[in-house]
Amino acid sequence: MNDRYSRQMLFKPIGSKGQAKIREKHVLILGVGALGTHTAEMLVRAGVGKITLIDRDYVEMSNLQRQHLFTEEDAQKKWPKAEAAKARLQKVNHEVEIAAIVGHADASLLESLLQGVDLLMDGTDNFEARFLLNDLAQKYRIPYLFGSCVGSFGMAFTIIPGVTPCLQCLLKKLPLQGQTCDTVGIIEPTVQMVTAHQGAEALKILSGNIEAVRKAYVSFDLWHNEYVSLKADALKDSQCSSCGYNATYPYLQEETGLKVAVLCGRDTVQIRPTATKHLSLDDLAKQWRSAGFMVGGNPFLVSVVVEGKRMVFFQDGRALIHGTNHVDQARKMYHSFIG
Ligand SMILES: [Zn+2]
Repeated sequence: MNDRYSRQMLFKPIGSKGQAKIREKHVLILGVGALGTHTAEMLVRAGVGKITLIDRDYVEMSNLQRQHLFTEEDAQKKWPKAEAAKARLQKVNHEVEIAAIVGHADASLLESLLQGVDLLMDGTDNFEARFLLNDLAQKYRIPYLFGSCVGSFGMAFTIIPGVTPCLQCLLKKLPLQGQTCDTVGIIEPTVQMVTAHQGAEALKILSGNIEAVRKAYVSFDLWHNEYVSLKADALKDSQCSSCGYNATYPYLQEETGLKVAVLCGRDTVQIRPTATKHLSLDDLAKQWRSAGFMVGGNPFLVSVVVEGKRMVFFQDGRALIHGTNHVDQARKMYHSFIG
């Protein structure tokens, strides 16, 4: 018996059979921030077979208060979150196969990664990405663990395609507390509470204890001492566009128009080229440095400061323009640097 997992195997509902099942499973975690780092660490320690981590951002000092796995050095080096998490997790458990993807998760990227995935974990910070995960879960019949937190408020819900309501069904009927930007801040125990729910549900599903899955939607406020557990079965909508009889999966439809987005509460605009580019970061850094700009970076990104605003470019042509919420201004800056 592998001593590493002995305590988990002593837990009767899992046992050696459940442990063997966990070992065979592949979990995709979208978003490697507060929620994603907690659940990733839990799953890696639990001995899951493989995890795929996807995140578009890099580590900053303001992340360290609640995002496990990251260090001051990661923030100083602006290391991409997916890569920083992978490096740390691989030290925790070398037996787990870990794939790190630095990029914006749109429908086509995610669909290309779903082969063999047994579970989708929500580590995102926005509802657009969550509805995308929700549609993928329904279309490919993969369980999806929704989780969300802001301030001291959190929510969690387990979505089993064909069995439970989906996120669309659920959120159509419930007040969307917590669907705000991260401008109101967050305390770390909120993250722990959401990921405790997500983590327990993951262990149930991965170890083959599907009957133990929680049927209720859970929300809580740790500061105001409130905990709500709401039976959700009746919320399933047979006309739902994501999980109904004639589902169209609206969030998987090809995006049209410019891929420019103001990132909620971040004072940052993200720009993605309509067709993926392959930037030579070294060449760009050299070119900009010789033009007199302040340039920084690492193997995954290059940053340049212009008029007090920091622009960060990734290999695939995506950019984060910090210090602005103005889409037009950001677009102009983007084009003036990489055309
Ligand atoms: Zn639905």
